[in-house]
Amino acid sequence: METSKKALNAEQNEQEGTLYFEDGTSAKGDYIIATDGIHSRIRKSLIPEPVPRYAGYTCWRGIINHH
Ligand SMILES: Cc1cc2nc3c(=O)[nH]c(=O)nc-3n(C[C@H](O)[C@H](O)[C@H](O)COP(=O)(O)OP(=O)(O)OC[C@H]3O[C@@H](n4cnc5c(N)ncnc54)[C@H](O)[C@@H]3O)c2cc1C
Repeated sequence: METSKKALNAEQNEQEGTLYFEDGTSAKGDYIIATDGIHSRIRKSLIPEPVPRYAGYTCWRGIINHH
């Protein structure tokens, strides 16, 4: 396991996935599961299109005291 590293891009083929880090190192595994958020650069490197788009939905949140 690699921690505290910034992932730059990724490659996935039928045999393995490779993740490349900012410090010049890389890691290999059977699959890549990208969990780097809505602006995921790993998703962009594996699937450049389509990009996220605003769908017109709005969410209201409320916080109340509950005693
Ligand atoms: C202000 C605000 C309030 C919210 N309130 C709620 C709420 O009340 N209830 C709710 O259900 N949801 C809420 N959300 C939405 C919720 O935070 C997200 O849906 C959720 O965090 C998404 O989880 P994630 O794991 O996909 O991504 P993230 O939580 O964004 O996690 C991505 C992680 O990847 C890391 N990362 C990013 N790029 C790289 C990289 N290149 N290399 C290595 N690591 C990287 C980041 O540092 C981060 O730790 C809120 C969001 C915001 C902005």
